[in-house]
Amino acid sequence: MSAKEQSWVEYKPRTILKDVLPLETPFSLQVEPARACNFKCVYCYHYNEREADNNKYLSVGSYRSLFESSWKFKQKLKSVTFGGKGEPLLNKGIFEMIRMTEQIAQETVLITNGSLLTQETVDNLLDSGLTTMRISLQGLDADGYYKTCGHKMDFDRFLRSIEYAHAGGEE
Ligand code: SF4
Repeated sequence: MSAKEQSWVEYKPRTILKDVLPLETPFSLQVEPARACNFKCVYCYHYNEREADNNKYLSVGSYRSLFESSWKFKQKLKSVTFGGKGEPLLNKGIFEMIRMTEQIAQETVLITNGSLLTQETVDNLLDSGLTTMRISLQGLDADGYYKTCGHKMDFDRFLRSIEYAHAGGEE
């Protein structure tokens, strides 16, 4: 199965919030699996503030508590997004968290800087039930990445991983 190609604008029919309040189920949830990052983006407030606030990871147990409390809602959430101030793939429990999420949300989204993507990582993400991956692009080649992020990106591997993900994990 190849990745769906949809215009962002046409992505989904919008719900007018005032027509549906009060909500019985929240629309979405944003989860921060890692307050840590392997990039040092020049514009990033997280990087600039990180000294006092870095290297913290959400445990699978804490996420499970959140997950279990979501069973109280009458319907599935529209989406759960893993992102925030850091790189989610640095959290070794991310695949398990994504796997749980399938039961409580219609869509599971990962926002990543893409640097840790390999074919194996993509396979694990797809096997876990990830439905959407958003990669924040920081450059168009390895030099551009280094200037913006201070990271020596394996740009060829990065492109191959994106192609592999776009093909749904098929070679
Ligand atoms: S990848 Fe994201 S969290 Fe990491 S330094 Fe860059 S902007 Fe900040």
